Amino acid sequence: MAIEQLLILIKPDGVKKSLTGNILTKLSEARMVIIGSKTLKVSRELAQTHYYQLKDKPFFGELVDYIQGKIYGEPYDRVLAFVYQGEDAIARMRKIAGATNPEEADPVSIRGAYGRITTKGVYENVVHCSSDPSEAEREIKLWFNPEEIVKQIYPTKKVVIEKEEKEDWA
Ligand code: UDP
Ligand code: MG
Repeated sequence: MAIEQLLILIKPDGVKKSLTGNILTKLSEARMVIIGSKTLKVSRELAQTHYYQLKDKPFFGELVDYIQGKIYGEPYDRVLAFVYQGEDAIARMRKIAGATNPEEADPVSIRGAYGRITTKGVYENVVHCSSDPSEAEREIKLWFNPEEIVKQIYPTKKVVIEKEEKEDWA
């Protein structure tokens, strides 16, 4: 079995329902290590790129609004993002997360216990979990910079950034 890494997101419904602790406790049963974590507001561009494979689905617009937390607003319009690493991590974490449709998910899984289907038909399933190694690599690189992950998991390169304006403590 291979050491894998994957992206886990606590989606805005998980934040709104105050499920962060419950979700992290359930995930910890798999004995994986967290090698990156942060809280962020999801831009429209990030949401669309993350879910690009679903862009032709009728629910795509609703899905983008959902991951941005549009329906919840301040202070719930954000996600918690994690990179987990461990043996056979993807299959094991997806099992704990449960099936995509919360009604079909094992009731003891995160999605089975805490998810719902909205009246508009969106599966609000409280977590995102990468589904295979190549998807995981694409997603980790999309959501995290190399310096935000405590160990090197993919090749990196040095780049010189000139005259870049960024926020610093005053
Ligand atoms: N989704 C939905 N309706 C569907 C399929 C998916 O609302 O019929 C949402 C759901 O929130 C899901 C996300 O779109 O988690 C991404 O779908 P995917 O098929 O990749 O499922 P996942 O990998 O999240 O289990
Ligand atoms: Mg998926």
